[in-house]
Amino acid sequence: MAKSIAKTAQEPHFFDDVSAFFDHAAQFTKHSQGLLNQIKVCNSVYRFSFPFRRGDTLEVINAWRVEHSQHMSPTKGGIRYSEMVNEDEVMALAALMTYKCAIVNVPFGGAKGGIAINPKNYSVAELENITRRYTVELIKKNFIGPAIDVPAPDYGTGEREMSWIADTYTTMNPGQLDAFGCVTGKPISLHGINGRKAATGRGVAIAIRECVDVTEDMKEIGLTPGITGKKVIVQGLGNVGYNTAKVLMEFGAVIVGICEYDGALYNPDGLDPDAILEHRKNTGSILGYKKASKEFKTSAEGLEQPCDILVPAALENQLTEENIGRIQAKIIAEGANGPTTPGAEAAFVKKGGIIIPDMYCNAGGVTVSYFEWLKNLSHVAFGRMDKRYEEMANLNLVNTVEAITGKSLTPAQRMTIVKGADELELVNSGLEDTMIRAYHEIREIKNSNKAIDTLRTAAFVGAIDKIAGSYQNLGIWP
Ligand code: GLU
Repeated sequence: MAKSIAKTAQEPHFFDDVSAFFDHAAQFTKHSQGLLNQIKVCNSVYRFSFPFRRGDTLEVINAWRVEHSQHMSPTKGGIRYSEMVNEDEVMALAALMTYKCAIVNVPFGGAKGGIAINPKNYSVAELENITRRYTVELIKKNFIGPAIDVPAPDYGTGEREMSWIADTYTTMNPGQLDAFGCVTGKPISLHGINGRKAATGRGVAIAIRECVDVTEDMKEIGLTPGITGKKVIVQGLGNVGYNTAKVLMEFGAVIVGICEYDGALYNPDGLDPDAILEHRKNTGSILGYKKASKEFKTSAEGLEQPCDILVPAALENQLTEENIGRIQAKIIAEGANGPTTPGAEAAFVKKGGIIIPDMYCNAGGVTVSYFEWLKNLSHVAFGRMDKRYEEMANLNLVNTVEAITGKSLTPAQRMTIVKGADELELVNSGLEDTMIRAYHEIREIKNSNKAIDTLRTAAFVGAIDKIAGSYQNLGIWP
């Protein structure tokens, strides 16, 4: 029988979901429909395929790079390696990057890339070849470069892949002074920056702390204010989930649940993420961990256990109209991009919950990517050069951090940082100020208009206003 071309319920809808959130927020802005349409669409969608030799067979690899909005250059966003990657997903994630950067005042447009492979099915050498070929395809079409489009890690990629990208780009562009700014999330030994790896998770933890510190908001949802003792379930023990859990524990919260692809663990008295990862290393699964009081065969069951805060930090579409009614948390902090569908959000908020939206909640990664990019453009290797140069570089970073956080340091504070700041301290304080400032900016937008129903809507309103301002200043060429 011929295949039906009718749309099915499985049809990808992530970009539509992001657009639905956008349209809902757009009604609270004063921009023309034409301008709103210009902001919403993806400026460039590059879909490409390339051959890959595996022994005697030839495999076709499908890949994408989407630049959602070029109102600022370069565009910026991670590269995802997953069998599930598709064009709709990459477009949606690129759009979220645009709004994310606007919310935290990082002067980039949004982009995202993806390769439709399961990295677990390839050897390290094969992954290197695929990554290098992908990079060359981007170079050929002008979809990468320190002033054009700057990739970073995302689901399924990390420092290792960023190193291969940087090496390929610099090899193909000999003599280009800023070449290492072509990608962020690089290891320290290859012009990366301290604190980038943990930045997204640290940012998520700071976002949660800011949220639970507002007494009147906590009263409304029936929680006591303050992070100490808050019970948290984290979905995903990858880079984002792991670091969120670690920093939340530092802040005094208790991680009562961990949900992973191989099952979920629960203990109302607390779980130790390091011990769980160690257990999986030894046994092949998180299940069977002795210090859990309950375990579940699926991640989904783990999400529904008692807690104050749920942090989905894995993939999109985890909280839907089907399961949202069973979620016991009062706060959902979106470490992942797009974990909650519009219908699920409406139901959760109606029940009296708060969702800290992805485009703000996980913006810590791109914030520190920005610091790394600046470091690359200023050609500084912190801590390994003449003190005078180091001070100049620190001064440069302090100025930038002040500019984007809007926080003015006292002359004495500036001097302390310029004279002796350690890079990690500077990065973490810039990250913290950025997250704090953005949270309260969003909250104020929400409170300025009773009709603005969620923090996500407020975040979109703020982002749309900033992007619209850029487009209006740019004008239209020709
Ligand atoms: N992939 C991360 C994100 O979704 C980081 C992007 C970046 O640093 O450019 O925000």
